[in-house]
Amino acid sequence: MEKEKLITLDHISKHFYLGNKQTLVAVNDVTLDIYKGETLGVVGESGCGKSTLGRVVMGIYHPTKGKISYRGKEVNLKHTKDRYNYSEKAQIIFQDPYASLDPRMTVGSIISEGMEIHNMYDREKRQQRVYELLETVGLNREHANRFPHEFSGGQRQRIGIARALAIEPEFIVCDEPISALDVSVQSQIINLLRDLQKKLSLTYMFIAHDLNIVKYISDRIAVMYLGNLVELADSDEIYAHTLHPYSQALLASVPIPDPDEEAQKKIQPITGDVPSPINPKPGCPFANRCPYAMDVCRSESPKLREVKPNHFVSCHMVQQQEKV
Ligand code: SF4
Repeated sequence: MEKEKLITLDHISKHFYLGNKQTLVAVNDVTLDIYKGETLGVVGESGCGKSTLGRVVMGIYHPTKGKISYRGKEVNLKHTKDRYNYSEKAQIIFQDPYASLDPRMTVGSIISEGMEIHNMYDREKRQQRVYELLETVGLNREHANRFPHEFSGGQRQRIGIARALAIEPEFIVCDEPISALDVSVQSQIINLLRDLQKKLSLTYMFIAHDLNIVKYISDRIAVMYLGNLVELADSDEIYAHTLHPYSQALLASVPIPDPDEEAQKKIQPITGDVPSPINPKPGCPFANRCPYAMDVCRSESPKLREVKPNHFVSCHMVQQQEKV
């Protein structure tokens, strides 16, 4: 059965102009589809543009170039009505459950705010829905009258999830939703997100730097480097046949519990720093760290292309291997 495209990103770029002819290229020419019901994991080092991409997909940032479509129809984010309609379908769970909840609002007000903005239900029904949502995320109705500071990090993230669910979205950007939490509660939140996805037919974009978590939760994985999408494939495929040198290095950086196996890793973890995203040089963004860099890599930007069914890579070397 053909998969249904929910969101399409078509050559999306996001630039921030810093003055003095300096431009920070946070996202560069990203094209991908997000299918209904899937979890698309987005991974990369800090500063790779994954959170900016999540905010562009949400309509929080307007793309500098490119377009976003929802169910095949372009969303004009500059158009207030389009943005309002789209925000009914797409919600976000933020990384920091401490900073993302207004400390002056009760939990009930935080959860019902979206329903008020979107004129959903009368006051009594909204209150009822707040109680139901609290129970759905593993809290209870008595929590509605309390304030965020009375809760632990894991409980606050549950409140953030209830807030995202309140207007019955189809799509949720999960922006590193567990990275600020204790390890002991991370798996509880992941399991909650998975259960909710099944129950409510949700589609997720799951942004993370922890590759183990991404593998566990994702159907497909997009690897980003310096604002660029460098590899995109099904989760099993990308772990079994990693093709881009950056993805290979990123996977090699995940420690293996067995010390002997760890010592025998063929690919070394990535070294050196990510170059500045301000006024980036032409050519492959990974060229200054890539052990396979060739002359062409420093002058021509590789294009993302499908090298195997549903496996997309942006690398001159992979292209050359195929031609041999
Ligand atoms: Fe390395 Fe060149 Fe491939 Fe970039 S295009 S990842 S520099 S081999």
